[in-house]
Amino acid sequence: MERYEKVEKVGEGTYGKVYKAKDKNTGQFVALKKTRLEMDEGIPSTALREVSLLKTLSTSIYIVRLLSVEHVEKKGKLLLYLVFEYLDTDLKKFIDSGRYVINVDPLPPKLIQSFMYQLCKAVAHCHSYGVLHRDLKPQNLLVDKSKGLLKVGDLGLGRAFTVPLKCYTHEIVTLWYRAPEVLLGTFHYSTPVDVWSVGCIFAEMAKRRPLFPGSSEVQQLLHIFRLLGTPNENMWPGVTRLKDWHIYPQWKPQSLAHAVPTLSPSGVDLLAKMLQYDPARRISAKAALDHPYFDDLDKSQF
Ligand code: AMP
Repeated sequence: MERYEKVEKVGEGTYGKVYKAKDKNTGQFVALKKTRLEMDEGIPSTALREVSLLKTLSTSIYIVRLLSVEHVEKKGKLLLYLVFEYLDTDLKKFIDSGRYVINVDPLPPKLIQSFMYQLCKAVAHCHSYGVLHRDLKPQNLLVDKSKGLLKVGDLGLGRAFTVPLKCYTHEIVTLWYRAPEVLLGTFHYSTPVDVWSVGCIFAEMAKRRPLFPGSSEVQQLLHIFRLLGTPNENMWPGVTRLKDWHIYPQWKPQSLAHAVPTLSPSGVDLLAKMLQYDPARRISAKAALDHPYFDDLDKSQF
């Protein structure tokens, strides 16, 4: 670890602090993440598998690159550091940076379109390897402002380290991007959970505020139901048999175009397909790339 010189703390993730550091050998900035692993018995095999998967996946330009993995012994304990390429900001900070002015401008439509394309590429890439992210949110999407790049970070860590209810700082893990099937306690969930999160992020870029800012699991569901209508067996076959299904207030679906007025009609159409209740009917990340919303995007730049 002598190779890296810490510059400043840049964030607190679900699993620990993230530092900006300088690689003394190359002069490059890197992001250092210390994982909080209990490694009394050596590195758990699940973590090793996780890290090698992360290395494989991070060969994509849409995934933050894992440069190296360092293990250090400190006070008899083994610590594992992940060294990532450094990006100057994350999507949450990027969205929030214009929020406190009087007229909250949406992000430029062309930028939203480009970010969405890169995000769908990243998610389709993970899904093609059979990997779910499970915790996509603006905080773990990293942005290179000058190049207009968006990359997924913190990939797959959710599996070896399991998604906890609270972060190590006891901050509640956000529920805002969680798919309804997960909230309703389904036993089998898959790639559609990530597409739901992508939909929520899409709307948030356009609104500059979260679409479903629930403060508890029930509140989260009610936020969703109020906009998309309370689901029933017609909209989502099998919903009433899910483990945590209860009787809820009955709401009718509201207009998405009205809820996210700055999106173009084809943007609203894609959003609706990402926020389909029935996971089997939800659009896949790969199919989203071919949606007409991206028709006028210059894809050669990717
Ligand atoms: P995470 O644990 O990935 O959610 O990281 C927590 C915060 O640290 C993020 O929201 C970012 O602000 C920051 N961060 C994480 N990875 C990087 C990186 N590779 N480059 C720059 N900042 C990062």
